[in-house]
Amino acid sequence: MTEHYRPTKAVIDLGAIKKNLVAFQQKSGDAQVIAVVKADAYGHGVLAVAKTVIENGVSMLAVATPDEALFLRNEGIETELLVMGATPSSFIPVAQQRNIIVTAVSLEWLSMAAVQLSPDLNELKIHLKVDTGMRRIGIQLDEVDEAFGFIADHDFAFQGIFTHFATADEKDSSLFHEQVHAMNSVIDILEDPSVMVHVSNSAAATMHPELACDAVRIGISLYGIAPSPYVGEEMDFKLYPALSLETEIIHVKQIKTGEGLSYGATYRAEQDEWIATLPIGYADGMLRGLQGQDVLVKGQRVPVVGRICMDQCMIRLSEKLPVGEKVQLIGHQGGQQIFIDEWARRLETIPYEIPCILTKRVPRIYSDSTEVSNLPFQEPDIMLR
Ligand SMILES: *Cc1c(COP(=O)(O)O)cnc(C)c1O
Repeated sequence: MTEHYRPTKAVIDLGAIKKNLVAFQQKSGDAQVIAVVKADAYGHGVLAVAKTVIENGVSMLAVATPDEALFLRNEGIETELLVMGATPSSFIPVAQQRNIIVTAVSLEWLSMAAVQLSPDLNELKIHLKVDTGMRRIGIQLDEVDEAFGFIADHDFAFQGIFTHFATADEKDSSLFHEQVHAMNSVIDILEDPSVMVHVSNSAAATMHPELACDAVRIGISLYGIAPSPYVGEEMDFKLYPALSLETEIIHVKQIKTGEGLSYGATYRAEQDEWIATLPIGYADGMLRGLQGQDVLVKGQRVPVVGRICMDQCMIRLSEKLPVGEKVQLIGHQGGQQIFIDEWARRLETIPYEIPCILTKRVPRIYSDSTEVSNLPFQEPDIMLR
């Protein structure tokens, strides 16, 4: 277990993840939930998240890259793993050996993979990705027949077919419906009923549970974050944000009217002000664009003032407070709360980016709000990143 002496940490509530998972399991009926744990489980720590969702009924995890899948296998995760991105030819025998499902992203990919197949190993499990309008990766609609033929003629274990929506989180649903229509035409010519069909991400699973098919791929909302403000408003169930970010005051002083602070001395005190320093900066993912963002101290909102440094930043207190006072950057304190969406708005980005940019210098500490004791605990067998 890594030791941490700096008070800055991301606390991940695994109980929140369980509750969000159950909500999607209920909403999706007979369809299974594929837990999307790419990018270190959207910054929440992939091992702890993987173990939590597996214990709660998930039987397939999805990642973006071959390396992410191998990491999970090497850590002893035995659940089905789907790599949703493209994999290179060198990975094909590894995928066969380690029982990792790979995605067929094009006709070229299928020919490449067919050449690499090792007949002595288990069959290569593939899911076929169809490009119905996202225009990122996937078989084109006019290539679907040829792809089905090619797969049938080679020793692939053809286990799934999927597509990805470009606008499921938006109010304008014209492209979304075009994509649904295109995917239906593909499913119509799919002869093997054992091939699982999955199309929905968090937004589609929330707004269109009738499209759940055999499985839904839930990423962002597993972590308690709405894919967009629009989906957040339309949601008919509650999400529980799993990540909170906290630190402690490490320095306090008064600055006089007119004095500046931090790089460039761009902030000037308008009166005598109590300024506290926090041990978190842009190298932790607290980007410079968060200057002016509120944090919670003593259940009150106070602003970040002056430029954010690499390892530290300053806040303006409304009264003198001691070193060691708790500061909540994301999450609840007193009756107040700051959600990831608020950071996203200030940074003019989407909430997805926020947990992903919290760097590995910020330890992930695990708690579980659904445990009776409700005490924060650290999973002894999980190395914090
Ligand atoms: C990331 C990803 C998802 C999960 O999307 P969310 O919006 O986070 O639920 C699903 N499918 C594919 C192909 C993805 O790349």
